[in-house]
Amino acid sequence: MMRFTLPRDMYYGKGSLEQLKNLKGKKAILVLGGGSMKRFGFVDKTLAYLKEAGIETILFENVEPDPSVETVMNGAAEMRAFEPDWIIAMGGGSPIDAAKAMWVFYEYPDTDFEEILQPFSFPELRQKAKFIAIPSTSGTATEVTAFSVITDYEKGIKYPLADFNITPDIAIVDPDLAETMPQKLTAHTGMDALTHAIEAYVSTLNSPFTDPLAIKAIQMVIEYLQESYNGDTAAREQMHYAQCMAGQAFSNALLGIVHSMAHKTGAAFSTGHIPHGCANAIYLPYVIKFNAKNAAGRYADIARSIGITGTDDECVKLLCDKIDEYNVKLDIPKSLKEFGINETEFKEKVSKIAELAVGDACTGSNPRTIDAAEMEKLLTCTYYGTEVNF
Ligand code: FE
Repeated sequence: MMRFTLPRDMYYGKGSLEQLKNLKGKKAILVLGGGSMKRFGFVDKTLAYLKEAGIETILFENVEPDPSVETVMNGAAEMRAFEPDWIIAMGGGSPIDAAKAMWVFYEYPDTDFEEILQPFSFPELRQKAKFIAIPSTSGTATEVTAFSVITDYEKGIKYPLADFNITPDIAIVDPDLAETMPQKLTAHTGMDALTHAIEAYVSTLNSPFTDPLAIKAIQMVIEYLQESYNGDTAAREQMHYAQCMAGQAFSNALLGIVHSMAHKTGAAFSTGHIPHGCANAIYLPYVIKFNAKNAAGRYADIARSIGITGTDDECVKLLCDKIDEYNVKLDIPKSLKEFGINETEFKEKVSKIAELAVGDACTGSNPRTIDAAEMEKLLTCTYYGTEVNF
């Protein structure tokens, strides 16, 4: 038996944040990131709508990019003290992901972080609170997914948590919030969305329910990302919906090894983080070439849906060229070396990273199986920008 789960309600369109004034409840905690939502006036608006709804609200602010286990535990402690019946997370992927994990430890204080690392093993949520997600970036789609990525800084590892219990109850997809994204973030999050849709479409768990969402999302990203990056607000609105559709697809079809590699390299190097979407954008064409041995037909479907013609093999090649071309336009490097990762450090760490990436939760649904030795070869191709031919 398969399962397809999405939020119970989605509100979308410019100004849809206003829906908060119709919320029924007593207490809410608003989980926020670094301050841009406050600066642009969205926090004040949110608090005014919640006041109109008769809901007492406290803030949990300053969730860091790539939120830590410690932040999750601090937020959960605040929730236990305040006892909200709504958790409202607003901002980029980080505050929303952090709030999803906080929700688990709010409702189950005796649970250890290690206990929820096994996918689809969470305790039953919604005993104390329901969850609203309001994204301000157009990429992670965490507002509609069963996932959350939390970083263990001591171990230098990003953990992708997965369970339909943390699929939000309500998503408010208001493009006004996404207009605040800086240009670089627009590029990275847009390529993250494209990767979600492509990985979902070729996933071993693809289905008639997820395919149309993935294909439509890919078509919309190809049509609108460039203009959104250049600051066109109508294109940015369409990107906000496209990334959400990609999220609906991958939350149910899961992902593949582009994400396994991004998760395990994101926090691995001393030269600093590789932003998630940027890592995905770099790895995507290499992984398509690796996976094409098993999934050329599916990649060809994708290519044809965006107007590429030819045999399956030609379509795969032209699809990779299209992604390369997009990366150039969005100022995304072609390789990890070009990104600035130190060669000696890369060589030192690559075999361990390869092993961890093979063990990542996203590897299981990749269309071609991979072992640690092949993963090391693939990562080495992405470091030097060399051709994948194995
Ligand atoms: Fe992603």
